[in-house]
Amino acid sequence: MKISVIGCGYVGLVTGACLANLGNKVKLVEIDENKVEYVKRKESPLYEKGLSEILREVDIEATSDYQQIVDSDIIFICVGTPSKADGSITLEYVTGSLNQLISVLKNRKSYFLIAVKSTVVPGTTEEVVIPILEKSGKRAGHDFGVCMTPEFLREGKGVYDFMNPDRIIIGEYDSKSGDTLYTLYESFDAPIVRVDLKTAEMIKYASNSFLATKVSFINEIGNICKQLDIDTYQVANAIGLDKRIGSKFLEAGIGFGGPCLTKDVKALIARAEQLGYVPNILKQIVNFNDSQAFRMIEILKKYMLLKDSSIGVLGLSYRPDTDDVRDSRAITIVDVLLKEGAVVKVYDPQAMHNFKKLFPHVEYTTAEEVLNCDAILIVTEWEEFELLDYRGKLVIDGRRILKAREAMIYEGVCW
Ligand code: NAD
Repeated sequence: MKISVIGCGYVGLVTGACLANLGNKVKLVEIDENKVEYVKRKESPLYEKGLSEILREVDIEATSDYQQIVDSDIIFICVGTPSKADGSITLEYVTGSLNQLISVLKNRKSYFLIAVKSTVVPGTTEEVVIPILEKSGKRAGHDFGVCMTPEFLREGKGVYDFMNPDRIIIGEYDSKSGDTLYTLYESFDAPIVRVDLKTAEMIKYASNSFLATKVSFINEIGNICKQLDIDTYQVANAIGLDKRIGSKFLEAGIGFGGPCLTKDVKALIARAEQLGYVPNILKQIVNFNDSQAFRMIEILKKYMLLKDSSIGVLGLSYRPDTDDVRDSRAITIVDVLLKEGAVVKVYDPQAMHNFKKLFPHVEYTTAEEVLNCDAILIVTEWEEFELLDYRGKLVIDGRRILKAREAMIYEGVCW
């Protein structure tokens, strides 16, 4: 099929590259010319395991000119939907891309499908996306189809997750729209769930809110276990054996970050409050997760005054195998350390260039240099941190790096 993907971020690039790898003819549309140039050189503008290799091999085009996608069978919208100050999402990138699509629609003679992959709150595709597209004079369900198909990939494992989904959700305006997207996805070995547009939007928010709740739950259990000198991970392993609970997302630590979980929980809270409902559990999850990162600092303060001490931070990305630092716990931690007057040295295998944009004045160095600091904080569970020599050091671990237990002084955040 002829596929176009609007937005060359983590989701758009992985979607485009994987669909090209499956034999589709893919064009990427991106307003950032720098990213377009990267793809034209067959390079990835961001770090995502396995993505550069696919981009090198597949025949994929990139452009900033929307008219070049006029012959697409399916157009995926994968632009960002970041949080506003009140927690609701901004739709400016979605509406920006739709407004540019209007002229493409006007020039289009035959039926094609527009599929929203960006995470948008329930009701958005019907109330915002379709009315903008219909400004072209073309009618949804008649001249073009509309689907909402949320993405569930984990950064760092995006290529694997795209190719091996647990399930595929097709939110459809009508059955013809859904059938078109079904044709693209039918070769995947995963259940395909077909629902209406706003149910698909809600499935994404419900999934991420549940994951955020699960992480916060085990962190709360971990905080209690630590007081009682009980190994949280033994508890988590045992409760995870219960099939009703499951073993994933039970890694206690300093909480979740990244571009999705907090943003999505906040957006669902904002949407619920708009409707006059106060979602108390979700509000508590956000507050609790914010406070969990500070526990690391509280533990550190038991051992030293932070002012003028050298503190090393291992890990800046919000999870391993990505260079994405959006809402990373390292942001909260480095910010507090600097405010307390500490001398901060940091290391991350992939994310230092992105972190530098937020904190230009901390020292970016090697893992070995970080280990020479008065204390070391482990913030991201990169595999290579299992290979470092922690002997004789003071380590506060937010992510359960087993090797770090050989440190002279070792404390976990909730173990
Ligand atoms: P991103 O910010 O990394 O990428 C978005 C890209 O869209 C940017 O490169 C930007 O320049 C481009 N863009 C903005 N306006 C444009 C326009 N008018 N035309 C063309 N390109 C435009 O975002 P992301 O992390 O890939 O996320 C995209 C969406 O997918 C969001 O709604 C997010 O919530 C959702 N999502 C993200 C993940 C994830 O792990 N990152 C997972 C699932 C869902």
